[in-house]
Amino acid sequence: MAGVEENIRVVVRSRPLNDKERKAGEDSCVARANEGREVQIRVNAREAQAFRCDSMLMAETTQEDFFNKSGIINLLDSALGGYRACVFAFGQTGAGKTHTVIGGSTFVQSRHEDSGLMGRSFDYIYDKIETLGIAFTIKVACMEIYQEQLFDLLVTEKDRSPLAVREHQTDGFFVEGCKLVVCPTVGEAVTALNKALKNRHVGAHQMNHRSNRSHFLTEVFIELPAKELLQINNIQDVPGFESLSDNMDANSDREYNLMGRVTFVDLAGSERLKETKSEGKTLQEAGNINKSLYVLGKVISGMSRKHGEQNHRDVSAGFVWTWHDVM
Ligand code: ADP
Repeated sequence: MAGVEENIRVVVRSRPLNDKERKAGEDSCVARANEGREVQIRVNAREAQAFRCDSMLMAETTQEDFFNKSGIINLLDSALGGYRACVFAFGQTGAGKTHTVIGGSTFVQSRHEDSGLMGRSFDYIYDKIETLGIAFTIKVACMEIYQEQLFDLLVTEKDRSPLAVREHQTDGFFVEGCKLVVCPTVGEAVTALNKALKNRHVGAHQMNHRSNRSHFLTEVFIELPAKELLQINNIQDVPGFESLSDNMDANSDREYNLMGRVTFVDLAGSERLKETKSEGKTLQEAGNINKSLYVLGKVISGMSRKHGEQNHRDVSAGFVWTWHDVM
């Protein structure tokens, strides 16, 4: 991330108790400690387990506060400066992942108090490019991983068959044949995302009435002309573009573009199968969800061990949330 040493940042958000929990006389089992650098989870009347994090935000945190305090602005600035960034919401079903990433109304909105990280990020990106006054291309792709298979959510159902992930020699991993929608305005980007969200797999079980059964991915490709950016006065003062003149030659005849990318992932929630009383297809879905979350955990710990060893441009900046359910 631009201006930050770490390549992974973990922010914990605790949600308020819901009506059911309040009626049952339950109490929050998470506490903030060490100026928000530690989350403590009560395991019984006397003991709590402590986990380190970069920031712990409590239940009263509004959507706007979360956007401003989570550090995501730093990631978006990095993506605008040509980096690859990724935002994950990770946690148990019902813990508040969709509320945080998508928003209170389960669809993406621009400039609304219920807006989650995606709507706010889109507003931020388009506003910033407009302020710079340069030509740009933003493309959006939306996919879901359902039962360990990857599907394009921006094509009609009859055209939706499992897609393959391939590795390109220089560009890294990509999804073959995935539709990219060009979005000249924030309104068009929001429309594309909501179309994709309608196609996402959801189900219901005893812990969350409307539970997401797939991992939902939105990739935002931001293409900006490097030369035009260099001609902007004081570009060094614009977050995300600090290192541009160090890396590019303003006198070169070559026309090259900065290609930044930010990926938002609303993961399906991990589930304790006994509590959700899942069976049949729901049980099989939950098994696959838990399996992929386990593998993801291994990848993240692998990436954090590499901390400091690699250039930021080579390693996707990760941004991981873990919520602990208050139940
Ligand atoms: P998940 O995606 O982790 O399964 P949801 O985002 O669907 O969980 O949240 C479960 C319920 O809790 C939803 O009704 C949601 O509106 C509510 N909720 C989650 N986080 C908050 C919050 N920070 N403030 C108010 N309500 C919340």
